[in-house]
Amino acid sequence: MIQKQIIELPVTQKIDIRKLDLSEIEEWVKGQGQPKFRASQIYAWLWEKSATDFESMTNLSKEFRELLDSHFEILPIRIDAVQKSSDGTIKTRFVLHDGNKIESVLIPVPDDNRFTVCVSTQVGCSLSCKFCATGMMKRMRNLSSAEIVDQVVLVNKQSMDHFGHPITNIVYMGMGEPLLNYQATVTSIFHITSPKGLGMSPKRITISTAGIAKMIKKLADDGLKCNLALSLHAADDAKRDEIMPINEQNNLESLMEALQYFYKQTKNRISFEYVALHGVNLSMLDAKNLAKHCRKFPVKVNIIEYNAVEGLPFGRAAMEETDAFGLALRNLDVTVTIRRSRGKDIDAACGQLANKD
Ligand code: SF4
Repeated sequence: MIQKQIIELPVTQKIDIRKLDLSEIEEWVKGQGQPKFRASQIYAWLWEKSATDFESMTNLSKEFRELLDSHFEILPIRIDAVQKSSDGTIKTRFVLHDGNKIESVLIPVPDDNRFTVCVSTQVGCSLSCKFCATGMMKRMRNLSSAEIVDQVVLVNKQSMDHFGHPITNIVYMGMGEPLLNYQATVTSIFHITSPKGLGMSPKRITISTAGIAKMIKKLADDGLKCNLALSLHAADDAKRDEIMPINEQNNLESLMEALQYFYKQTKNRISFEYVALHGVNLSMLDAKNLAKHCRKFPVKVNIIEYNAVEGLPFGRAAMEETDAFGLALRNLDVTVTIRRSRGKDIDAACGQLANKD
């Protein structure tokens, strides 16, 4: 009997086309003997029209679409579950192509014509802030820039469907630390703001960081036009070390110096996020320490109501405790906004994102 020999051919892996920039797509198109403008057509399908397959690229010939499909893949995120809060906030869990899950939140304020999406940049987070549900998860991986843009595209559609209004603002404040996924964060902003992408104004985008001094300076050097929010949460190093371990390598002096540099280089808006933790960070001394940091560059403080997370030892401050702290800051000439919590009945508020069912 003749035994058949099985020859194993190498499996050629398809390339995620959204990892290529326009010049790389042009290069490939040229190699296929196609005119250069085909690359711009493909690019527009990917970033302006958010196509999720090659089949839908109808201004390309069927043969060319098949050729694309044999070389490349598009790995869109998909909606896994949606929860709607009684206050209108919508939390969406997305499943990624590898089965990992992330969450985004749509926060509508129709009276102000403000529809904000809060996007994630990592699956989980490595920074372990002590009050945060995401911090209890392990960091599984970084998101690609396309996976960040997909959140904006899909939540924008939700906003249109539910409120008849597109999203107006984007905050990089969901799961993960954007500056530890620097390249994907910056590339996603490029696609969101580019006229060849979603065409949004960078002034409507805020990157929120737990505070990585050297990456804040890099943002400034790279000329980013977005706003920056520092999740401050404590105004002296001893306290901040306790609740945000990242402070041990990035103390307040280094952060303020980085923010001063960022402001000098970019003149972009800076804010401090300050979560109101009962009995932890709302004393009059905390207010004085915080006010000192506010004199170094123009900055606004957003005090955010905290929502207790099961298993974590922090409590929600009473409204009077938060208001007294806000007033103390105002008396020290600090610009303050107190943000009442949104989406708390669906665990969509700040620090509550944890992929729970
Ligand atoms: S607050 Fe932000 S940086 Fe800190 S653990 Fe949570 S997701 Fe990570």
